[in-house]
Amino acid sequence: DDWAAAESLLRGLSADARVLLICHVNPDGDALGSMLGFGLGLRSLGVHRMQATFPGPPEVPEPLRGLPGLDLLVPAIEAYPDPELVICFDAASESRLGELVDRLDTAGAALVLDHHASNTRFGGVNLVDPRAAATSVVAEQLLSRLGVVLDAEIAECLYVALTTDTGSFRFEATTPAVHQLAARLLATGIRPGDISRRVFDTRPFGAVRLFGEALGRARLEPAAAGGRGFVWTWAGLDDLARHGQRPYVLEALIDSVRCTAEADVSCVVKQTTPAEWAVSLRSKGGVDVSRVAVALGGGGHRFAAGFTGRGTVEEVVDRIRGQLDTAVIPAAD
Ligand code: 5GP
Ligand code: MN
Ligand code: MN
Repeated sequence: DDWAAAESLLRGLSADARVLLICHVNPDGDALGSMLGFGLGLRSLGVHRMQATFPGPPEVPEPLRGLPGLDLLVPAIEAYPDPELVICFDAASESRLGELVDRLDTAGAALVLDHHASNTRFGGVNLVDPRAAATSVVAEQLLSRLGVVLDAEIAECLYVALTTDTGSFRFEATTPAVHQLAARLLATGIRPGDISRRVFDTRPFGAVRLFGEALGRARLEPAAAGGRGFVWTWAGLDDLARHGQRPYVLEALIDSVRCTAEADVSCVVKQTTPAEWAVSLRSKGGVDVSRVAVALGGGGHRFAAGFTGRGTVEEVVDRIRGQLDTAVIPAAD
């Protein structure tokens, strides 16, 4: 099966094999954490000419700059053009790999580790488990099959990934197995309080003010999504510039917007170029936002999804409104 195939691919690597680890564009805690944690694990087995990278500018979001294993990172432009093996983390489709997509063809072999139900299985070997709470769960299973012993550095990477994708163990995907994995990671001595403060609870004052502005112009549409309610806001490049903030600070904004009691669906539209917007969608369960995102060219999960929108904010939000009613999940009785 795929697990055996993945294991033999990795066991067959020579110590100086050119292995390239890649993850999705605008990497989050799961993308970077699973990639670097797995990389550190492979390194502990003696694989030493490894590179890790992601598409776009080689800028790690500030909250993730404490991750162990950052020394594995190289800018995308310097990544092996023809690696012996490429391993891809947390990307549901090739479109999430930006300019690195060509490595799927130039590499000797391509291994995909992911947990998106919408994964297109674009690798030669695909370990895709939609029931896994994070890609790091899949990564840890593979490391364990390879006999890697978890140390504190590997564990910290995997823990950041696990807490990011489970909303710090709040989301539905938080199974007993998730807590059992967390327990094994914590047993290495990592400090969950320090990690959480760094990753989730630290932002510049300018970002706090920027959030205030964006929340101040949020709109609530109670009749949308078949009466389940829709709340949304947006932030432009000029807002970022005025507050001196980098785009990734906006990633946490959706967590404040989605608190809205009167709305099942929440949305933040974030300008990335003058005519492009990164759209985040969240649902409390009555609406499958991955259907909305897929219909508009993106993807994701039932409760969290996203896509790239073009045009004005109003045009992007109009397109979302047009998809909301068909994405309502019929009540089961
Ligand atoms: P976020 O809103 O945190 O950026 O993304 C939530 C989820 O939506 C992610 O787990 C990711 O799977 C998915 N997602 C976000 N943006 C895109 C996109 O542009 N394309 C695709 N295919 N999926 C996305
Ligand atoms: Mn991700
Ligand atoms: Mn993930």
